[in-house]
Amino acid sequence: MNPYIEQANQQFVPVYNRYPIVLDHGEGMYLYDTEGNRYLDFGSGIGVCALGYHDPNYTRALQEQMEKLLHTSNLFYNVPAIEAAKLFNQASDMEQVFFTNSGTEAIEGAIKIAKKYHFLKHNNHNGEIIAMKKSFHGRSMGALSVTGKAAYQEPFAPMLAHIKFADFNDLESVKRLITDNTCAIFMETVQGEGGIYPATDYFIKGVRKLCDENEILMVSDEIQCGMGRSGNMFAYQLYDIVPDIVVSAKALGCGVPVGAIGTRGAATGVLRAGDHGTTYGSNPLAAAAVTAVFQLYQQYDILANVRAMTLYLDKALSELAAQKVVIKEVRGLGLMKGIELSVPAAHFINALQEAGIIVIPSGSHVIRLLPPLILQKEHIDVLVNALKTIL
Ligand SMILES: *Cc1c(COP(=O)(O)O)cnc(C)c1O
Repeated sequence: MNPYIEQANQQFVPVYNRYPIVLDHGEGMYLYDTEGNRYLDFGSGIGVCALGYHDPNYTRALQEQMEKLLHTSNLFYNVPAIEAAKLFNQASDMEQVFFTNSGTEAIEGAIKIAKKYHFLKHNNHNGEIIAMKKSFHGRSMGALSVTGKAAYQEPFAPMLAHIKFADFNDLESVKRLITDNTCAIFMETVQGEGGIYPATDYFIKGVRKLCDENEILMVSDEIQCGMGRSGNMFAYQLYDIVPDIVVSAKALGCGVPVGAIGTRGAATGVLRAGDHGTTYGSNPLAAAAVTAVFQLYQQYDILANVRAMTLYLDKALSELAAQKVVIKEVRGLGLMKGIELSVPAAHFINALQEAGIIVIPSGSHVIRLLPPLILQKEHIDVLVNALKTIL
């Protein structure tokens, strides 16, 4: 066995089943392992590396910031964080932002805003949150409490109280759960870990309307589907709605760990000095990464590329699905795709790796595609040809 893998298996808390690949460096759409093997990457480190690997402009922006200042704490202001906040708020149609270090932490903050919003309005602690079945919002206790997957929750019970689960894309099931105490509805615009299910237009607009009518905060988890992956900067923009709270992470920093909570309307101004905080949030290095990401999306016209590649990929995948009986369904939005098989996907994912292509699973039967957004037609051809052979 590879000695690195042996050491890792001894040293790490074994919460992950890793693939037997030790990654060393990356270039554009490609990753290289310590043995020099090259992989075409359709995983982006779970939707993080939207600009691919070793982008020279991104690298330079981080290097320049590293030469100046890495950390300040939130006891002081720093210019990169102010720049990043302006860009985030403008791109997401939010008024204010709080930067975090991860997705789960951003969800925690959104839960706190929802709870305090209810407390300010009713002066009690009965605020209820509606979340979706098959959702994923993170692994910390609050985020786990709104994650609709019993197996993830069970060993860590009890979860936060006053959380109810509706069926995703079933508006009636949401309506039935609403009470005078409902303070927030949490949903991914496209369910990622749950199998790549986009919200229907009817559902997301219906949730927006229910939230408006009942003074409920609509919280969109755009951690996986946001930051351009849908062809819009945030996936909810495809549906022409704006949530009250946007939660972002993953591709927000394109590799530097950073998340964000954006607020508007009734969600703005809920948290006051002393209500929340984080040592690292708004860290200048992370902020420089966020700023570089928004600027380079513009410079490279990433959204136009996502739209063009989506058309090409959709056509190729629908042709493939017509040829292969093992494909049950192809779902998704933009460059976030799930290929659901009628048999477990693991064997095929391993075979693709042996052919030099990285894809990731979503659940047991779905091959998930989350390529870097710099993807080109030639990369799609390589993937689809390999899938043709392997499936
Ligand atoms: C990854 C993910 C999270 C959790 O983000 P972390 O940075 O891993 O904590 C939450 N929600 C969604 C939709 C995700 O894909």
